[in-house]
Amino acid sequence: MSIDEKYMQHTDELKASDEVARTRVMLVDDQNIVAEALKRMLADESDIDYHYVSDPSAAINEALAFKPTVILQDLVMPDIDGLMLLKFYHTNPETKSIPIIVLSTKEDPGIKSEAFALGASDYLVKFPDKIEVIARIHAHSRSFLAQQQRDAAYRKLEELKKELEEKNVELERLSSLDGLTGIANRRIFDEFTKKEWGRAAREDQSLSLILIDIDHFKPYNDNYGHQGGDDCLRQVAQKLASSVKRPTDLVARYGGEEFAVVMPGTDLEGAKSIAASLCEGISSMSLPHAHSSTADCVTISLGVASMTPSAGGKPQELIEKADEALYKAKESGRNQFQLAE
Ligand code: GH3
Ligand code: MG
Ligand code: MG
Repeated sequence: MSIDEKYMQHTDELKASDEVARTRVMLVDDQNIVAEALKRMLADESDIDYHYVSDPSAAINEALAFKPTVILQDLVMPDIDGLMLLKFYHTNPETKSIPIIVLSTKEDPGIKSEAFALGASDYLVKFPDKIEVIARIHAHSRSFLAQQQRDAAYRKLEELKKELEEKNVELERLSSLDGLTGIANRRIFDEFTKKEWGRAAREDQSLSLILIDIDHFKPYNDNYGHQGGDDCLRQVAQKLASSVKRPTDLVARYGGEEFAVVMPGTDLEGAKSIAASLCEGISSMSLPHAHSSTADCVTISLGVASMTPSAGGKPQELIEKADEALYKAKESGRNQFQLAE
């Protein structure tokens, strides 16, 4: 199922759950007479399911089983204090957000404020009239259900979002363009280099490679932020791509802040002049980099290698040579190119 379809299904489920959501009332009271009175009051309410618990010590377990959308809780009971029960409901993750309407025998400000402090949603003095009881049950139940649905919808959306992100990573891998910079990605680089290596070997031609690494890019990110770093990568990539003129050349993002230029039919002399112009091109953009110890703007280091491949060889040989030259460029002070031996 596609993510779109899942999203649609999810919204349908939400609508359906909205339609079927019933009000589930659980009364905890040791007096059977209260239970009977409430039962009579709710008798005509076809959307309300009613469950009576006479033993307060069973209240939590009964709540876990019955799954009330609202609890009516007596305060004065033989073995257990109703206020104590409020605490228990509150500490259990499965019952903690169920609204509780406290049923008290008297209008007592002290008990009332304690009940609210312990998480009660409402306070009624026994015995309120039918209209009031039903209205409050409906109101609390509705807000509880709405909250439950919001939570579930949020969790589901988070799940879908994560799935989408994973899919995007996979798509990017499958596609040929690097998602950030818009130039060829590593997969294309690998394929292109392999193909051109084979062709150069057959035609006895030289193949050149320039590996490029942005200087002091970590401090750039650290100081200008990841977004700033990404912008810089895009600008450097665009500059490199537009500076390489031959249609047979490939400019690719090789890794994080590393780029590669592959030039079929080009010898070391030719590659060297391209490397010089790329190096100069990037520094002349004057992208400010106040945290580089090399220059006050963004610069690159380049390693240049050229080979006429042998039939049995692998493009990895060329990559290693360019990489060694790049290392040399870094060691020699950056913002420069070095040629492989
Ligand atoms: P050096 O001059 O020796 O190359 O130093 P450096 O700081 O550039 O070297 P290092 O390899 O330690 O740092 C590369 C940094 O590039 C690390 C990482 O935070 C950053 N980076 C890699 N990929 C991305 C990316 O896609 N976006 C951003 N913003 N930063 C990236
Ligand atoms: Mg690097
Ligand atoms: Mg670097």
